[in-house]
Amino acid sequence: MSDFEGLTALVTGGASGIGRATADLLAERGARVAVLDLDPSSVDKPLLAYRADVTDDTSVRAAVADAVAALGGLDVLVNNAGVGAQGTVEDNDDTEWHRVLDVNVLGMVRVARAALPHLRASAHAAIVNTCSVAATAGLPQRALYSASKGAVHALTLAMAADHVREGVRVNCVNPGTVDTPWVGRLLDAAPDPAAERAALEARQPTGRLVSAAQVAGAIAYLASPLSGATTGTALAVDGGMQGLRLRPV
Ligand code: NAD
Repeated sequence: MSDFEGLTALVTGGASGIGRATADLLAERGARVAVLDLDPSSVDKPLLAYRADVTDDTSVRAAVADAVAALGGLDVLVNNAGVGAQGTVEDNDDTEWHRVLDVNVLGMVRVARAALPHLRASAHAAIVNTCSVAATAGLPQRALYSASKGAVHALTLAMAADHVREGVRVNCVNPGTVDTPWVGRLLDAAPDPAAERAALEARQPTGRLVSAAQVAGAIAYLASPLSGATTGTALAVDGGMQGLRLRPV
């Protein structure tokens, strides 16, 4: 029997990487799934695709309304769209801080605000936010990104408290270094991408990067009725970094 038979899900940033792997897994497990993304042109059936920018409240409201109408309700929101940022507090100016916080934090708020009235009507409502080890690890050269994910972690806990009596569970996943197009772009920018990848893998406790499918598995668990007693938690999917007290770089 499939975990998501009869359930519906909306995945933001679902055209690529972790979001795409999650949308595919939920669909494989029986959910009807809609993807909301800046560029959903690569998204194909059975996934439904909606173009929206999470920094634009009007486009978010329209896409969520269209997706919910097409799905016939909403049980699961995977709040995953996000962007990276590198540097210390001296390296990013106010414009860059506003841009990244607008996507990574307010983006999740806007989608949740549009989705909550529909989630409240579900008997199996769950929100899963894609956070990061950066929320709590104290990473060098990631001040802005870490602050944005620290906010996502706090937001997850606050939302879990606010909506627990409404039957809406809210959890987050904290991935380590995941082999997605995002990490591929960072590696490609290095003088020797293959050597940089090998060095990055060598720094992982497991000797391997985390796969998008592994993060999708954790998201699917937190989204499914199998985790029905779990809310306000952060699940590490980092190849052991946090559990083993190792510093990701
Ligand atoms: P990715 O770049 O492969 O995919 C991100 C998706 O989000 C893209 O499809 C992009 O179009 C979409 N997106 C970006 N800005 C958007 C906006 N304003 N509106 C709508 N959609 C937008 O990245 P990924 O690695 O799969 O990352 C997904 C999430 O996982 C992010 O929240 C990221 O912070 C988090 N994360 C990634 C890693 C990693 O190592 N890759 C580690 C920890 C956390």
